[in-house]
Amino acid sequence: MKLTICWLYGSTMNIYGDRGNVLALAQRCRWRGIEAEVVTLGVGEPLEAGRYDLFFWGGGQDREQVAVAADISGPKGEVLRAEVEAGAPLLAVCGGYQLLGHSYQLGDETIEGLGLVDLRTVREEGPRLIGNIAIEVDLGTGKRVLAGFENHGGRTYLGAGEEPLGRVLHGHGNNGRDGFEGVRRGGLIGTYMHG
Ligand code: GLN
Repeated sequence: MKLTICWLYGSTMNIYGDRGNVLALAQRCRWRGIEAEVVTLGVGEPLEAGRYDLFFWGGGQDREQVAVAADISGPKGEVLRAEVEAGAPLLAVCGGYQLLGHSYQLGDETIEGLGLVDLRTVREEGPRLIGNIAIEVDLGTGKRVLAGFENHGGRTYLGAGEEPLGRVLHGHGNNGRDGFEGVRRGGLIGTYMHG
């Protein structure tokens, strides 16, 4: 058995050790005797439908998100949407998570997202949300705690029909206010947690 992992924008959106997610996925496959191929896809490189089993999208700086948002707004985004809606798992962290939503608003500038998930992100007044984070999740095998690291200026608000990935025990999460962290819909997971 072989899995092909697509690492979206691996050269531009890869901060705070996000690459570790790809390394861990590939290694876990190997431990189970599954061959894992990782393909890094950059700006301007087309996304081939049906080629990938799993997608990972990491975090990045605001200016990188502008370039990437333009790239994903065309046919590439449509292919990604179709793959995810057909059941391909997608893990998106921080900057990638923000771009799954409708928009990321930075003062006068609005970066359009993929609109795959009903969420919006706004850069509000106030400090960046930085530090270690622990959340309580239930991924179908009972409650457990996930720990990571967050560093984001954007505050994310989920639409009424979306479920968060978990509830914040320590740290800030989506916006530092509502106690939610990330989003989860089937095999799609968005989160601010690096690490
Ligand atoms: N640039 C985004 C923000 O500051 C995402 C940061 C990140 O990916 N760590 O909110």
